[in-house]
Amino acid sequence: APTDYQAKPDLLKGKTILVTGAGDGIGKAAAMTYAEHGATVILLGRTEEKLEAVYDDIERAGLAKPALVVMDLATVTDEQCLHLAQGLAEEFGHLDGLLHNASLLGERRPIESATYAAWQEVIQVNVNAQFVLTRHLLPLLQAAPAASIVFTSSGVGRTGRAYWGAYAVSKFATEGFMQVLSAELENTSKIRVNCINPGATNTSMRRTAYPAEQPTDNPSPEDIMGVYLYLMGDDCKGVTGISFDAQ
Ligand code: NDP
Repeated sequence: APTDYQAKPDLLKGKTILVTGAGDGIGKAAAMTYAEHGATVILLGRTEEKLEAVYDDIERAGLAKPALVVMDLATVTDEQCLHLAQGLAEEFGHLDGLLHNASLLGERRPIESATYAAWQEVIQVNVNAQFVLTRHLLPLLQAAPAASIVFTSSGVGRTGRAYWGAYAVSKFATEGFMQVLSAELENTSKIRVNCINPGATNTSMRRTAYPAEQPTDNPSPEDIMGVYLYLMGDDCKGVTGISFDAQ
């Protein structure tokens, strides 16, 4: 099963992979793991100091020199994404992987009392930003021999749950976006598009969402990297349109 996938040490050698939300939690672990398997990673996130810390960890480990992109997905524009794509085209020429990992938990409360502003922010970060980034990065992904786009879902993106509001709706939208894009690209390109549901993982988002849990009862981000590696490497060429569980 992809969950206990054992990656070759050089699985991602020569590949360039962009990770959103790379400064913390699962995104940070994925960026580090991809770099450890040979990839040049592009670290995208909103908090510069966190991205710099990951950048330094990668450099200190003597891995391929990463790139750093400070971008707030809550306010990101079409122009910013176009500019990002142009910069990456100049520096790398193509993109082998795109991990949409960043997301916002938002408020968990009944729809009856939810606020429109909080709703819009979650949908903006978790859905709209994925669209605008993907839209402008597609040409770079098309330019790679066999690129992989990976979205991040959740259990509440497959079955709705009371009080999970915009977050749950955004994860259903993410599953839908993955399916639409996968279907569009299936016969016309070598890009595969899939989804990962990480499952309960010990990160700051998890600790906020489940304050009563003992954090260390959940696996750490490093423990769930099998599927993250599998989907970025050439062992899963041709696999598309699937929503995986990381645990
Ligand atoms: P974290 O909150 O630890 O990390 C989320 C990352 O997204 C952070 O790096 C954060 O940046 C970034 N981010 C949030 N808002 C923005 C923004 N406006 N612009 C740019 N970056 C932003 O969460 P996890 O690592 O737990 O979550 C990773 C993914 O996994 C998410 O999509 C989440 O929904 C999903 N998931 C997680 C589960 C879990 O148990 N942990 C379970 C199911 C799904 P910053 O650090 O600067 O705030």
